[in-house]
Amino acid sequence: MTNTIEELVVMAEKSGCKISTLVKKQEAKSKGCSEEELFLKMKSYFEVMRQAANKGVQNEIRSISGITGGEGKKMWNAKDKALSGETVVKAAARAMAVSNVNASMGKIVAAPTAGSCGILPGAVLTVGEKLSKTDDEIVDSLFTAAEIGRIIALNATIAGAEGGCQAECGAASAMAAAAIVELAGGSPRQVSHAVAIALKAVMGLVCDPVAGLVEVPCVKRNAMGAAEAIIAADLALAGIPSVIPADEVIAAMKEVGRMMSDKLKETALGGVAATPTGKNWEKKYAIFKGGIF
Ligand code: SF4
Repeated sequence: MTNTIEELVVMAEKSGCKISTLVKKQEAKSKGCSEEELFLKMKSYFEVMRQAANKGVQNEIRSISGITGGEGKKMWNAKDKALSGETVVKAAARAMAVSNVNASMGKIVAAPTAGSCGILPGAVLTVGEKLSKTDDEIVDSLFTAAEIGRIIALNATIAGAEGGCQAECGAASAMAAAAIVELAGGSPRQVSHAVAIALKAVMGLVCDPVAGLVEVPCVKRNAMGAAEAIIAADLALAGIPSVIPADEVIAAMKEVGRMMSDKLKETALGGVAATPTGKNWEKKYAIFKGGIF
């Protein structure tokens, strides 16, 4: 296994393989199983992602607290009028749809976390559809996403409680950007640039869930994370490099997370959680939890 994005890219360049091909080979070897077994496992995750996205764009799914609900369906229904274009808006709608399913305690794939679970499916399902990719091709791209997530977790963190939302939604967005660059036929080097661009875009983003629930601002941050992944991929595919290499961006993200106040790391004591409206929701939810709401 590789410890850095640079090692991964160089290995892929030397072997002339896609990152996903390399990852499958390495993973099968380290786990002592066949690539086919790994693929089928990943395909089962992909099916969960697709079902959650479909469920959330077709139904108005409300969270148990009632703070959020139906954003995925609303956005999907408004896609024909969207200013940002069909691809971005479909990805955003699917991302929120999956996030709605998560907030209603439905089944999702934490990729890399439950809070950021909509970003990767939103991006890969939409870009896969746009490029007429097969399910198997999309599943393959998830191996690239997974490896990027593993390297970020190894060298920094993917937890909002440790590094802020830059680590959680940032990692999901970087994973999604990597997967869609590969889906679009980009090179391993372009994958690394997309990862760096996606992570830099949210550097310093705080984790500030209202009432400690993964709903506000999380559901909409999933929409933004999916959109950002697509733009990061487009930049990389257009030949626009990240001046700062991906591994250095990951190290910087870790350091920013370390410098961040604990109030901004999933404690619901800062950011939008500490606004008057955020505090009102917290009070309402406390009553709800006590069975009075
Ligand atoms: S704000 Fe915090 S809980 Fe919400 S998605 Fe970001 S990291 Fe996760």
